[in-house]
Amino acid sequence: MPPLVPRMRAHAASVFGVMSMLAAETGSVNLGQGFPDTDGPQSVKDAASRAIQDGRGNQYPPVHGLPELRRAVADHQRRFYGIDLDWTTQVCITTGASEAVVASLLALVEDGDEVVMFAPWFDLYAAGVALSGARHLEVPLTPGTFRPDVDRLRDTITPRTRVLLLNTPHNPTGIVFTRAELEAIAAVVEEKDLWVLSDEVYEHIVFDGHEHIPFSTLPGMDERTVAFGSAGKSLSMTGWKVGWATGPADLVGAVRVARQHMSFVSGGPFQWAVAEGLALPDDHWTEFAAGMQRSRDRLTTGLESLGFGVTASEGTYYVTTDVRPLGYDDGLTFCRELPHRAGVVAIPQQVFHDDPDAGRPYVRWAFCKRDEVLDEALDRLGRALA
Ligand SMILES: *Cc1c(COP(=O)(O)O)cnc(C)c1O
Repeated sequence: MPPLVPRMRAHAASVFGVMSMLAAETGSVNLGQGFPDTDGPQSVKDAASRAIQDGRGNQYPPVHGLPELRRAVADHQRRFYGIDLDWTTQVCITTGASEAVVASLLALVEDGDEVVMFAPWFDLYAAGVALSGARHLEVPLTPGTFRPDVDRLRDTITPRTRVLLLNTPHNPTGIVFTRAELEAIAAVVEEKDLWVLSDEVYEHIVFDGHEHIPFSTLPGMDERTVAFGSAGKSLSMTGWKVGWATGPADLVGAVRVARQHMSFVSGGPFQWAVAEGLALPDDHWTEFAAGMQRSRDRLTTGLESLGFGVTASEGTYYVTTDVRPLGYDDGLTFCRELPHRAGVVAIPQQVFHDDPDAGRPYVRWAFCKRDEVLDEALDRLGRALA
């Protein structure tokens, strides 16, 4: 008998671990895993070093997060979105947004319940739902454009569905949900009486004048929505694992109960530093998004000139391509061959679907990398695919 419980067997290997290992084995340029290869602001690093040396946070910080960081998260939500939060009851600091996602699922659903999500989904969502004992339902985004089909969402929901797990800006496709799309989704949420877990970790990485709209700001949705943020993504410190959940006190209170029995607390000195980072001035955030946009343009232009079909990335670290113009019909085959053939790693979209047919020809590329790394990847692709 294998020791792993049956409900987790489908989640045994993370595609990011597998592909990063393959990248290391083959000496490939890794455009698979989404982490920036340039660290976040020096002032934020200095703040973490200072906190360690000054003895702030080296012992267990408060269980729901350092008050200074909870205040900083509340201030951030007010400053960028006009959301008013009581930091004492409506903010919970987590070990990365990952823990916020899993703790929220463990708090809100169990065996017999369903969680609905658009596909492709972030792999942690399906695994987190499996941990909770609930079941997930997927609603494929429209192939190619990756826009949500809200009628299909409505039709997929059953009386056992409790939660919509939403993600905008969207990993892996790079789309940003529009206000009209979110309004249509909100109407379904109201009609079906759901809670919403809104993963907004890419909130500061939006391009071309697209707007990140927090789901809780839609009429009636603040009472139903827990939102997730991440210092990993917003401050380019993915190794620090500091995130947060915000929302109404009853929902955040439930999340806190589950979360405190997971990691109990997370990195004290990092919490001090992230509190400083979230207060960085406006030009920092503008330049952060502008830098990512330049990287997006660099990779997009390169991939287009190699013949890939590219769906414009509106936000996140990622751009999605269709590999069919290159003579492949399967992104998984393409991505398995690519490290050996070209020395480049990318992620096949189909692993983020229950129905692999839905994402079969699509591949995700991460562009949160230095120019020379993107250029090297494009050079290698050019030589191998010529
Ligand atoms: C990276 C990521 C997370 C996890 O964030 P951490 O703060 O690193 O735990 C959650 N959701 C999405 C969509 C992500 O891309």
